[in-house]
Amino acid sequence: MYQAPRGTQDLLPEEQPYFAHVEATAGHFASLYGYQEIRTPTFEDSALFRRGTGETTDIVEKEMYSFIDKGNADVTLRPEATPSIMRAYLQHGMHARPQPIRLFQIISGFRYDRPQAGRLREFHQFDCEAIGEDDPALDAELITLLWRFCDALGLHDLSLDINSIGDQACRPGYLEALRAHYEPHHEELCGDCRRRLSVNPLRLLDCKVPSCQPIADTAPGFTDHLCDACREHFARVLATLEAEGIAPTLNRRLVRGLDYYTRTVFELFPPRAGSQSALGGGGRYDGMAEHLGGRHTPGVGFAAGIERLVLNLKEQNAPVPPTPNAQVYVGHMGGQAESVASDFARSLRSRGVSTLRAVGERSLRARLRHADAAGVRWTAIFGDEELRDGTVSLRDMNAKSPETLAFDQALERIVSSTQDRTE
Ligand code: AMP
Repeated sequence: MYQAPRGTQDLLPEEQPYFAHVEATAGHFASLYGYQEIRTPTFEDSALFRRGTGETTDIVEKEMYSFIDKGNADVTLRPEATPSIMRAYLQHGMHARPQPIRLFQIISGFRYDRPQAGRLREFHQFDCEAIGEDDPALDAELITLLWRFCDALGLHDLSLDINSIGDQACRPGYLEALRAHYEPHHEELCGDCRRRLSVNPLRLLDCKVPSCQPIADTAPGFTDHLCDACREHFARVLATLEAEGIAPTLNRRLVRGLDYYTRTVFELFPPRAGSQSALGGGGRYDGMAEHLGGRHTPGVGFAAGIERLVLNLKEQNAPVPPTPNAQVYVGHMGGQAESVASDFARSLRSRGVSTLRAVGERSLRARLRHADAAGVRWTAIFGDEELRDGTVSLRDMNAKSPETLAFDQALERIVSSTQDRTE
């Protein structure tokens, strides 16, 4: 028997209320803040992610689903959305439109990661990006959108971490201070951190290895090393958030694993956060467009993990709206009644009533069991007797005992009951 590949999952119909709730709320909040939907390809040139995500990130070093296609192109299933959206912005000359460009997308993402709860090889993200403007109001807008979206989903007791990781002007000075702090501890560092010390020191703060924690905890924070422009930017982000009633925690170790981030970085955590449990995160990436060979183009965005949001909705017992069932089950007993039952189903559907049509030959008991399992409000059964009299045996599933009604009368009864419900 084939199984779904490791790290992937089938979302069966019973899971849909959760995913539909998250995705509908995501779309609603994106448009509430004026973000328009974009859809970019599931795969891109591998070089886009190598440059856009960053050569020294775990994603690029260890996690990409890359392959050579039949035309010898080196392509990668997207591990995240931001480089694709920036590519689309540059490719379509969106700088010529009024700035910023606010976009959102719901994607499946692919990372060759070690599967565990909330960590999959194919996962889904709600991604929002605002490109073409470096106003700190936008950083705050995205954080606010993410925060209010989670609140509207019904998630409680979340915490928001924030930090600033400066720009080209102040980062060299900070990295110097970081190296000076780490060098004396060289021997105590894990293998990854020794390498990071030379290739990407900012990521030292990201290390999860227990023996590296005391060194990272006592490291200098970037906010003490920001240049005036970055300090001013960060202060305005915080002030705008305060006006929104959002109070993030300064986390001096928050750097995010992606090279192109500048200034604001943030991450959202559930109440019982483990090391890998962030619900979402993002930041500003003013350096990315140039890194991709485009003109200087500031940008800021976030991605929230849909599977993790769903896990937390379940953990917090948050109510989610049910996905609608069919309203009517139409069954025939015996081949003679088949066509009149189909006429009835057709009439219902033409009046906008969702209708489940029984197929095959089954006992009445089996038909009713099926109708019950389908959660319909009405069950209409056509047998020989009904066929002869031009009637239908109509059962209101709340009332249980059936009534015999004329075809048209039954139709009107159902249509008016479903209209009552939607009014
Ligand atoms: P990142 O692009 O790494 O900042 O991820 C943003 C969000 O996507 C994370 O906070 C997670 O909620 C989610 N996410 C990232 N990687 C995975 C994964 N392998 N499985 C499930 N969710 C993920």
